[in-house]
Amino acid sequence: MKLPVYLYGHPVLRRKSEDVSPEYPELEKLVADMFETMYASEGVGLAAPQIGRNDRIVVIDADPVGEQFPECKGRRFVLINPEIEILDGEKVTRAEGCLSVPGVSENVARVEHIRLSWLDEKMHPRQEELSGFLARIVQHECDHLEGTLYIDRISPIRKQLIKGKLNSIVTGKTYCDYPVRYAPKKLK
Ligand SMILES: [Zn+2]
Repeated sequence: MKLPVYLYGHPVLRRKSEDVSPEYPELEKLVADMFETMYASEGVGLAAPQIGRNDRIVVIDADPVGEQFPECKGRRFVLINPEIEILDGEKVTRAEGCLSVPGVSENVARVEHIRLSWLDEKMHPRQEELSGFLARIVQHECDHLEGTLYIDRISPIRKQLIKGKLNSIVTGKTYCDYPVRYAPKKLK
């Protein structure tokens, strides 16, 4: 089932998410719905807060950017309770976008090498060293679990320049070709 993507301005995107336990109800169904939602909106990653749940669950399918970034080819992940360890402090700047911030793409500096520890969809512990754009996608999605958006990591000048666009997302004036949920209207 396709789920609406919660947009910038919604408080669910700003909360820290909770660890997921093996008793989590209908995890398999939720993961399938998250993949369906991600594919329908042509994203390469989706974190649970983006579908309105503050739970530490991320889905990634980086294959669509595999031509440009070979490390992404055929890489599909379900990350439960992921943890990132930075292996190399040097940062590289590349453009990012986010399904929760439609119509915006900005440069973000991130480290290129990480060690990722996580539970897979069967709750089996996994660990892998990742690099390049794949490491970037993972960092972007794991930021969502902390209530952080990539636009928090751009320069104040850039943030100022996209203020108008961000405001139109918050006020529900942005068009989106996938189902979305806007921020609740503020009470006057
Ligand atoms: Zn995002």
